[in-house]
Amino acid sequence: MHNHRHTIMFPLVVGLLYYLGAYVGVQFAALESGIVVLWPPNAILLAALLSRPPRLWWPLLLVVVVAEVAADLAVFTITQSLLFAVINITECVLATSLIRYFLGDEMDWHKPKDLSVFLVTVFFIASPIAALGGASVYSLFLIGDTSFLTYWRLWWIGDATGLIILTPLFHMLLNTGLPLRPGIARRPRHLELFVAWVLSLMACYLVFSWNLHSEDYLALTPLVVILAPIWVAIRFGPLSASFITASVALYAAFATAAGAGPFIRAIPDQSALLTQEFVVLFTGMVLYVAAFVFQNRQKGYELLTVLEELRQLNEVLEEQVRLRTGELFDANQRLQTLALTDELTGIANRRQTKNLGEEEADRSSRSQRPFSVIMLDIDHFKSINDRYGHEVGDRCLHAFTQAIESVLRSVDHFGRWGGEEFLIIVRDSDLVDLERLSVRLLDSIRAISIHDEDQTITFTVSIGVAEWHGCSFDKLVSEADDALYRAKELGRDRAEFSTATRRVPQ
Ligand code: GH3
Ligand code: MG
Ligand code: MG
Repeated sequence: MHNHRHTIMFPLVVGLLYYLGAYVGVQFAALESGIVVLWPPNAILLAALLSRPPRLWWPLLLVVVVAEVAADLAVFTITQSLLFAVINITECVLATSLIRYFLGDEMDWHKPKDLSVFLVTVFFIASPIAALGGASVYSLFLIGDTSFLTYWRLWWIGDATGLIILTPLFHMLLNTGLPLRPGIARRPRHLELFVAWVLSLMACYLVFSWNLHSEDYLALTPLVVILAPIWVAIRFGPLSASFITASVALYAAFATAAGAGPFIRAIPDQSALLTQEFVVLFTGMVLYVAAFVFQNRQKGYELLTVLEELRQLNEVLEEQVRLRTGELFDANQRLQTLALTDELTGIANRRQTKNLGEEEADRSSRSQRPFSVIMLDIDHFKSINDRYGHEVGDRCLHAFTQAIESVLRSVDHFGRWGGEEFLIIVRDSDLVDLERLSVRLLDSIRAISIHDEDQTITFTVSIGVAEWHGCSFDKLVSEADDALYRAKELGRDRAEFSTATRRVPQ
């Protein structure tokens, strides 16, 4: 429904504005000689065509014909008015088609490239071509000594100036419904924009109207008027910039048309050309500044967005690395435990026992506090295996380790040295009564009874003890082994001590 209303209202508004534009052009922008410094209505039509798809053009063209005739009839015949309508429509349709051809559906004043396409199309193609028609009508119907070429040039530059000054503003106003781009396009601060606008008009006043009739007035360079528009272009972008450039350009055109300002020359043609040259260059410059600043800001914003995405990605990656590292660490821990543990009994294996023993030897070297090695070998274990089977043998080994562990302090180390040979590392053995410990170990093994079917299995162990005396761990083990051998020799189920072992007096 909204759209429907739009399709009716839009052409009516365009027609009205077109009529007003023509009126303003004739009333305020024309020199006494009839030369128009800038021709506003075509900018309204071009902006309207640019903001509508071609299938919605025909009502616009229709109302423009009516508006053109209405505006022209006071001065021209109906035929001339209709011809002017056709010429102006041709100019705008040609310009729009070319812009659409180069840029697609969307004309964006935030893009320097779009601005370039617009400027070149309007100034060098659409306006000079339409001006051929305009000059023809003038040459055919109007009596005067002005040449075709002069008519052509006047029409061309007047149209081009009007289009360049006003199309961006009208087009952006017609498209204000478009969403602002996130993060970059700034809504103008109205007070600041107003101050800039007032300052630009003051600059216009100083350049074009101040002390007009005084003989010795200070002539300011027209460039003074460019400061406020540049400020607005940088701060608020193309829409605000086009508003302020349009008002400055109109001021310049109206002033020159009224015979005031620095562009007035003896020949009206020259006054018009100077003004046109100034406002076109000035407008193009300000719009380029607005577009480039915007583009830069957009790039900065895009860069920030990409950086933020990268940061988040990095976070995810880091989290994954943390997880993986944790998993690897755990797996590594498990592997290490596996590598250092005896599978059957769950106590330290030979490798780990050796590591611990060497550490202990180092420690004792530093502290000079002795440690001891107790070597245990189950008696006649082969015959247990032979009689009851390997599985029962395993159960015996398991019960054996549990019995030993229950006797040991938590600071001592206990490991499986070989098949049914075990090794105890007794730390700080100067605090330990090794003989009593041996007795308790022997007792704890004697107390084991394993049940297999209706049989009860018991077994004993032989023990060799060797206390550290500044030697290496390997040496200590072989001393304990020797002692163990003696224990076996002497009848098993007993403990023997190496010669270097400190004996506690009984
Ligand atoms: P000794 O009193 O002289 O030590 O006699 P022994 O029978 O214990 O002699 P030896 O030490 O030579 O025998 C060790 C036996 O221990 C041989 C092997 O079958 C057995 N054995 C070694 N490891 C295991 C094991 O993991 N499980 C079982 N069930 N038996 C094992
Ligand atoms: Mg053995
Ligand atoms: Mg044995």
